[in-house]
Parts: sequence; C-alpha cells; structure tokens
Amino acid sequence: SISVVLFTSDLRLYDHPPLRAALDGTELTVPLFVRDRAVDGAGFAVPNRLAFLADCLRDLDAGLRERGGRLVVREGDLVDQVCKVVTEADADEVHMASDASAHAQRREERLRRALEAEGVRLHVHDTVTTAVAPGAVIPAGSDHFAVFTPYFRRWSDELVRDALGAPRKVRVPDGVGSEPLPSRDDVRGISEGLAAGGEQEGRKRLTAWLRGPVSAYEERHDDLAGDATSHLSPHLHFGTLSPVELVHRARRAGGPGAEAFVRQLAWRDFHRQVLAARPDAGSADYRPRHDHWRSEREARDDIEAWREGRTGYPVVDAAMRQLRHEGWMHNRGRLLTASFLAKTLYVDWRIGARHFLDLLVDGDVANNQLNWQWVAGTGTDTRPNRVFNPVTQAKRYDPDGGYVRRWVAELAGVEGRTVHEPWRLPDDERAALDYPDPIIDLSDGLARFKQARGR
Ligand code: FAD
Repeated sequence: SISVVLFTSDLRLYDHPPLRAALDGTELTVPLFVRDRAVDGAGFAVPNRLAFLADCLRDLDAGLRERGGRLVVREGDLVDQVCKVVTEADADEVHMASDASAHAQRREERLRRALEAEGVRLHVHDTVTTAVAPGAVIPAGSDHFAVFTPYFRRWSDELVRDALGAPRKVRVPDGVGSEPLPSRDDVRGISEGLAAGGEQEGRKRLTAWLRGPVSAYEERHDDLAGDATSHLSPHLHFGTLSPVELVHRARRAGGPGAEAFVRQLAWRDFHRQVLAARPDAGSADYRPRHDHWRSEREARDDIEAWREGRTGYPVVDAAMRQLRHEGWMHNRGRLLTASFLAKTLYVDWRIGARHFLDLLVDGDVANNQLNWQWVAGTGTDTRPNRVFNPVTQAKRYDPDGGYVRRWVAELAGVEGRTVHEPWRLPDDERAALDYPDPIIDLSDGLARFKQARGR
C-alpha cells in the first residue's frame, strides 16, 4: 500500500507523527509539499518567509534523500494537487498535521471531502504543530481558555507524548513528478539580516541554546541589548523544530531559565487554542471595546513614521528598524512598538499586525494577531487598558542604550541614557542630530486613549 504525507507547517523529519504513521502503515510514501496559491492570494507569501521556506524545503529534501527518498513539491490549489498526487501514486491514505487557523481548518475540511470522494482516507495528527493540542484542555463551560494563567496550569499537567526520532529509510514510489525546489536566491526583497532556515539549522540552534544561554533566560529575556532569547520562533513557525521535542528537552535541561522558556512555549499553544476555537479572531476583535481606531487614511503620516522607524522615540524606532533589517524583532520591542501604534497613536491594530506579517520571518496568524490583540486590549490581556510608556520601557529594558545605538545610527554617538530622550540634549547638540522630534506628546496620546476607552 502507498501513502502520501502532506507537509505544511511541520517541515522536519524528527518527531513527525504523520510521517511515522505513514511509514509504519504502508510500503511506499510520497512526502509532499504544496505551495498553496491561497496563501499567496491572502498576501501571506512575503519575501522573508518565502526565502526561509525555500531553505526549509531544500533541507527537508536533502534529509529525505539521505534516507533513500525525496521531497515532491507542487504548486497550485492544495486540494487539487494532493488529489493529483494521490492518483499518480495510486495512494490509499493521506497523513497531515492539524492546524489552528481558519484557512487551515477550511483546507482540511475541503481535503477530507475531496479524498473521501475518491475512497481515500485522510488522517489528521495532533501535537505536530503544538505541544498540547487545541481543545485537549478546556475549562468548565467553554471550548477554550480565554486567560493564560489557568490555561498554563492545566497545560503543565497535561502529559506530553514522547518525541519520535527521525526515520531511517523512506521509500518513494516512482512516477510522481515534482516542481524544482525553490531557492532563496530567487526571492527578491528579503531583509539583509534574515536568518537561515531548515531543520538542521534549527536543531543546531536548539542544541546550542539548551547547552548554555537558556539558563539565563529568566533574568535576561527582556534585555533588549543582550538579545538573550532563543530566536527559535521561525523554526517553530515552519515546524523545523517540534514543540513536543522542545518541551521535553527544555524540561530535561531543567532550572528556572528552562522553566521560563517552557512557559513561553505554552503561550504559543495558548494562542493556537484561542484561534482554533475562534478562527475569526485572526481579523475581528476577540473582545470588542467599542474602539473608533484611527484608520490608514486618518493617520497616514503617523503610520508611515512608525513603519519606517522615524517616530522620534528611539526605542520604538530601533525596534522597527530591527524588524526591517532582520525580519525579526525582540519580544519586548514587539510589545512596545505595538502599544505605541495601537494605544499611543490610537491606530487600528490590524494595520500594525499587517505590517508585522509583511516582514516577520516568524509571522504567524495565531501568534501575531493574538499578541497584537493582547496589546491593543481587544484580546486576552486581563488589563486591557495598560499603556506602555516607551521612555520608561527603554530605561528599564535597555538601560545602557546599547539597543538604540545599534539600530538608530543617528544616535550612535549619544552617550548614557539621554539616548532615550534626545530632546533633552542641549539645543546645539540636538540640532546636529539628523533625528526627528517625537511625532506625538505621550500625555496627549494617553489622554486620547483614556477618553476613547471611557476612563
Ligand atoms: P523566546 O523568548 O526564546 O521564546 C521561545 C518561543 O516561545 C518562541 O520562539 C515562540 O514560539 C514562543 N513565544 C514566546 N513568546 C510568545 C508569545 N508572547 N506568544 C506566543 N508564543 C510565544 N511570535 C511568533 O512566533 N510569530 C509572530 O508573528 C509574533 N508576533 C508578535 C506580535 C506582537 C505584537 C507581540 C507582542 C508578540 C509577537 N510574537 C510572535 C511573540 C514573541 O514576540 C515571539 O515569539 C518571540 O519574540 C520570538 O523570539 P524567540 O524565539 O527568541 O522567543
């Protein structure tokens, strides 16, 4: 018998339950990736993620070839392409991972129906893209947790299945054609400092992370200049690393740093279980606050200044420039730039979320949209009206100003903490800097927000 394994957000060989089930149950297996036109159509196929994806597919193909197989790549409508491959290979079953987004849920349903019509069974596997499946833990009287802390308690008690090794041998049937593998060299407009993708790269990073830096994660995860987080987010987004394996290995490493790291992995699962239960939360307010956000038209100049890192608030500008340069941003930067847009400038969070998705290599509907909603106060934050002050935040999380100096070249020569408040410099020094004045007075922003939220 013959199976097809459809890879989606799980581009790896280690700990891959769909692949394991296919190899155990059938003699021949087609490992398949479909470059889904619907993803392009929705504007999700942006240069940074396409480049990282190309690395991942090449690495997956190389890993399969070492084991006697290869990766089949197709392009077009995902359901049509899977059905075509099933016919070409004369396959009996298809295996894939479950996923949370509205798009993924619709895709799975369409695929199931199309395959059933051909008499082919679709097996959908949980705990491939999450450590704990959405819906595996639920509170009394609801289909998902709306608050993280109680979710985390239950998540921590949930037994995580053992991680699987990589397969030794993969045998692919003859006669199934493939498009050429994409290459990052063919992608235009990628960020200069974009990280490399692929499972091998991800595993190297994970091992290095667990061997040392994770132990300081608890104290240092908010240190902007220290940059002491794992940078594993793109690997989790593309599934070159398995969240199940990460939880096990981090727990084995032990200590407060590893525990704090595991807690962040739970945040990832938390957002996925919210999105799985409320797929519309990718675009609609999870908890509407009757906001009258400023639109793109009303706030054009402010939005442009924010996107380009010219708001006149150094830490905001540093983070926005890091995003453009690396296709990645430190979590503390994400929090305060998002708060600045949604609350200080009072611009619709969807506009900011879109810009993040255009650039982030880890850009992910669940994590991006729901973190944006958390910050905007329309999501799961239990204190929806808190506003981050970018100057206070900068002094706390970039006390020596190293982060700002690294990313805002105009301020590289400003010493001490004044780098966070260049408007305090003597007039002549201030005038010599080619750096904008703040585009908004923080107290004006706060007053507008409080009034808008009726407080
Ligand atoms: P670490 O601190 O090393 O954390 C380890 C892993 O835990 C991360 O790789 C990530 O998978 C997960 N994680 C950490 N924090 C969060 C969180 N708050 N929510 C969910 N998962 C988390 N993360 C994305 O993966 N994709 C996004 O598109 C994304 N957009 C964001 C937008 C905003 C406005 C904010 C505030 C946060 C966003 N995050 C997003 C969450 C977080 O900022 C990143 O996951 C983190 O900065 C990635 O760096 P790291 O891998 O070094 O994280």
